Amino acid sequence: KKVLIVGGVAGGASAAARLRRLDEDAEIILFERGEYISFANCGLPYYLGGVIKERENLLVQTVQGMQERFNVDIRIKSEVTKILRETKEVEVLSQGKTYRESYDYLVLSPGADPILPPIPGIQREGIYTLRNMADVDRIKSLLEEKKPKRAAVVGGGYVGIEMAENLKHAGLDVVLIEAAEQVMGPLDVEMARIVEKELMDNGIRLVLQDAVQRFQGEREIEIILGSGKQEQVDMVIMAAGVRPETKLAKEAGLEIGERGGIRVDEHLRTSDPAIYAVGDAIEVKDRISGEYAIIPLAGPANKQGRIVANNICGGTDQYLGSLGTSIIKVFHVTAAAAGNNEKILRRAGIPYLKSFTHSGSHAGYYPGAFILTIKLLFSPEDGKILGAQIVGREGVDKRIDVLATAIKHGLTVYDLEELELAYAPPYSSAKDPVNMAGFTAA
Ligand code: FAD
Repeated sequence: KKVLIVGGVAGGASAAARLRRLDEDAEIILFERGEYISFANCGLPYYLGGVIKERENLLVQTVQGMQERFNVDIRIKSEVTKILRETKEVEVLSQGKTYRESYDYLVLSPGADPILPPIPGIQREGIYTLRNMADVDRIKSLLEEKKPKRAAVVGGGYVGIEMAENLKHAGLDVVLIEAAEQVMGPLDVEMARIVEKELMDNGIRLVLQDAVQRFQGEREIEIILGSGKQEQVDMVIMAAGVRPETKLAKEAGLEIGERGGIRVDEHLRTSDPAIYAVGDAIEVKDRISGEYAIIPLAGPANKQGRIVANNICGGTDQYLGSLGTSIIKVFHVTAAAAGNNEKILRRAGIPYLKSFTHSGSHAGYYPGAFILTIKLLFSPEDGKILGAQIVGREGVDKRIDVLATAIKHGLTVYDLEELELAYAPPYSSAKDPVNMAGFTAA
């Protein structure tokens, strides 16, 4: 069989590797518009901040490495510009020339594009988005050559916060501008406040509930906000969220869902049975609310790539939706979430109760324990856990993973009371914070 893959990073590269493992004879061609495949998008902010020192460490897999290891025909600087469904072909633009390639199966993993709101002046020099190696190279050379002193980051989501922290780390004065009343949409407001305090305690100036109206100015960039306030900076990172890249799919007449992502069934097949789609470009079912959602995270993209490969090779694997499990480092604090928050539950009309616990991350008598705040959302009927949010300094990662596992398997707050979790004083308490959350909620 002949499989074409569009997009060579998270979802696309996973699909290619898995396909080869399952089928030694398949012809696999992977098209990537950019110059690199399989780079570490998630590491980009840390390279800009100087935490990751070597650029090459971001290049997880090279074209040659992947070609040799998996015998995949990798074509970089090759953009798939059209899908000809009738003849099962794609049109590819490479070095100014267009050619066609036929397929038995087509896998779309084109990702999502940073949103650039129609703000006057947004196209000017000094305003950047961050998605790929080309973006990171542009920003890195600005930092090294022009040595900007002041930066604004617009958008207080994951990428915005990571960029604010890393630019601060690189020695810049940073203002973070967020139009909503809080940073970090996956958290409810009272949990986000802990994150906001950490940002401010570490010298980030935070502007909330104020949207950028205009960029102007000659040499320096003047940002005019809705409130009339102004900020003068030398560079701007726009991190106002991402939008699924659906142009190719749309033009081919594939179904697009109400949230603007490619619509797929539980086998990750699009409305054309020979075409699969994965990653940031698709809509998935929110596992709790049942609503369609766009969940642009690396874990789901990688797993979906694998599922599609299994299905192309005769499997019937299903992707039943995402919990949106996510985590972020904010200076000394870690914030994490899984499942639904109050905003989503309210919108979906799902009744819920909530509980808060503030437990030590490990035994108080052993040095270095910090408070871990856990918010649980659960069903008033049977105690089923609907969502969890945690903010703390250490041990947040393992607690959110326990809770994400609990949510995935439909466990209740009563089950949390019974979980037998690992304990020695440096790691936890005889009653782990997750047990404590269960005791309080039950
Ligand atoms: P991508 O990995 O974006 O790959 C899509 C590729 O397709 C692109 O390289 C694009 O050039 C190519 N392409 C698109 N259209 C075409 C075409 N027509 N022809 C040829 N090629 C095409 N997620 C986490 O879970 N944790 C994190 O900490 C995290 N941090 C992040 C930090 C940053 C700065 C960014 C940008 C993202 C981060 N993410 C994180 C999100 C994660 O990177 C994405 O969810 C994941 O990469 C999505 O995989 P994908 O395959 O759908 O798209």
